[in-house]
Amino acid sequence: MTPLQTLKALVELQKIDRKIFDLEKDREQVPKRLTEINELLAGKKAELSVDLNQLAEAEMGRRLAESDLKAEKEKIKKWESRLNDIRSNRDYQALSREVEGARKANLGIEDEILRKMQEIEELKASSGLKKEDYDQHEAELSSERNELEQKLATMNASIDAEGAGREQAMQKVDPRWYQQYQAVRKRRMGIAVIPVLDEHCQGCHMGIPPQLYNIVLRGEGIEICPHCSRIVYFEQALADVSLEPEGTAP
Ligand SMILES: [Zn+2]
Repeated sequence: MTPLQTLKALVELQKIDRKIFDLEKDREQVPKRLTEINELLAGKKAELSVDLNQLAEAEMGRRLAESDLKAEKEKIKKWESRLNDIRSNRDYQALSREVEGARKANLGIEDEILRKMQEIEELKASSGLKKEDYDQHEAELSSERNELEQKLATMNASIDAEGAGREQAMQKVDPRWYQQYQAVRKRRMGIAVIPVLDEHCQGCHMGIPPQLYNIVLRGEGIEICPHCSRIVYFEQALADVSLEPEGTAP
């Protein structure tokens, strides 16, 4: 393999790796958004259930107060019928006072029932709004979630397909340069092979010494940028390079 062929093979590999890199970066966003969606819905649901719990408590309170009131009223009724049978004035006065006290207490229970009813109305209104809000978000976000899951499946398929292409492209790269390529790619955001232009590396935008630049222009060797260690090449020099072995090219 000539240096230009090795460079061409590296460029091909870099193209594929760049695609995989971008796809993987996009793919990383999907679980993030899915988590956001789940957290948002869980938050709305929690708000709703706070209201629903308060509503259930208020309804329970109202039922208890109502049954208290009923029991107290029956008690008063019994006492009142007993009053007719009492002959002693002192006993009569005493029971009358009891009845009066119980009636006053009932007014308090009636107030409590009214307060609970008002609370129930308010909680029904606010939980109704929260339920509506939750349902609306649930509908929107679950369709977004479905889309994301489909997108994820498509991305996985694309990454797998690119991975198969990468396997082939990798075979065409000299193992020594492949190692260099992999090492630089890790350190340089996935880009290890980069063109030069006007005596500058297009990766780090630093100047390339003239002697080195001339070698790269003529494609006489494989060189790395002295500043960022990326493998550098000159676009036009690779234009007519074929990776097919001699004789099999069309
Ligand atoms: Zn550079």
